[in-house]
Amino acid sequence: MTDYTTDYRCLICGETYDFDEVAYVCPKHGAVGTLDVRYDYAAMGNGVKRDEIRRSEWPSMWRYLPLLPVADPALIPPLDIGWTPLYHAERLATATGFDDLWLKDDSRNPTGSLKDRASAMAVVRARAMGYETIATASTGNAAAALAGVAASVGMRHVIFVPRTAPEAKIAQLLVYGAEVNLVDGSYDQAFELCLSACEQEGWYCRNTGYNPWMTEGKKTVAYEIAEQLGWEAPDAVVVSVGDGCIIGGVHKGFYDLLQLGWITRMPRLYGVQAAGSDACTLAWEQGRHADLPRIAAQTRADSISADLPRDGFKALRAVRESNGAFLRVSDEAILAAIPELARQSGVFAEPAAAAAWAGARLALAQGRVARDERVVVLITGSGLKDVAAARASVDEKIEYDHSQMRKGKDDRSTD
Ligand SMILES: *Cc1c(COP(=O)(O)O)cnc(C)c1O
Ligand SMILES: [Zn+2]
Repeated sequence: MTDYTTDYRCLICGETYDFDEVAYVCPKHGAVGTLDVRYDYAAMGNGVKRDEIRRSEWPSMWRYLPLLPVADPALIPPLDIGWTPLYHAERLATATGFDDLWLKDDSRNPTGSLKDRASAMAVVRARAMGYETIATASTGNAAAALAGVAASVGMRHVIFVPRTAPEAKIAQLLVYGAEVNLVDGSYDQAFELCLSACEQEGWYCRNTGYNPWMTEGKKTVAYEIAEQLGWEAPDAVVVSVGDGCIIGGVHKGFYDLLQLGWITRMPRLYGVQAAGSDACTLAWEQGRHADLPRIAAQTRADSISADLPRDGFKALRAVRESNGAFLRVSDEAILAAIPELARQSGVFAEPAAAAAWAGARLALAQGRVARDERVVVLITGSGLKDVAAARASVDEKIEYDHSQMRKGKDDRSTD
């Protein structure tokens, strides 16, 4: 297989490195020195044709294998990750004032979130380098994704998550057979613990932002959106942001396609943050590029709760270079977005995913996107991930009246 990668480039200082020179980050800045993986687009364009992709029958992100940094296809895990549906959400659009609204439903991944795309790439890289153990810190979904993908190939996996992660996400880890470390603290503390454990034990580290290859997995969602729209970029893509890796990946995906000439423009990217976890939004408002504030994040949308966005520089660049914006939405708006989305489209989102929909509505209300523009909202995780939040999002009390049942007056079933 031809692999078109060339080198790493530091987002802060611009220094470039060969792949065998550094492991994860630019040595000059420590863990915040996130790196870009760069490609030889001229060679890629000569070697890969769009029609070749179109003919692929592989219903997964690996339909883009000729573009991806994988030297040995035998290392690809057997789960079908990606190639998720892109729905034209006509009822939701009519109800909320959009003309051309699309939902990219990444809750339809094997472990229920977009994180599967990155974890698949992590497992491929770890296997290529001969690692026997892979570890990650996570608010829950990255861990569940890593656990599922590692289980599919029988690789030992170690997880660091806050004890407060939603029950379903922790259950996934245990069921997949992860070695789980429940951290009495925040995601950021779990992140630091995982970094030092990987260093001490010699494990491969999947940590978001820190591991530059996670972008290369997540970017496949942008390839899919473009292909599903007939190799055309939409006007805008709305993405919820915690660490900023997903929106950075979406940007990278469209950027690759633009370099290849497979699309002719970059969509505007809108990053949506919970009001209580808005470090990227603050930095963007203050015009900062490579200097993110550390906040004390607090939001019901656990998957986008981050004190210090670990891929913030890529997120800021994505929004800045695409002429998009960052938006803040309240936890109330996020919870309200869950049933609205579900009732008008049939798509059931967890809070962090519903946040993108709340952000899309705000972007329309603020005139940042126009009614007649083509807007894609990325649904990043399944509503089944956080059933307590789902229940809290619906105000109707669903109480079964037993007295009615005894009298035989009511034929409602409990199904
Ligand atoms: C991880 C995650 C996000 C945010 O992605 P970042 O890369 O941290 O910005 C959004 N929604 C869901 C469901 C997630 O799991
Ligand atoms: Zn640097």
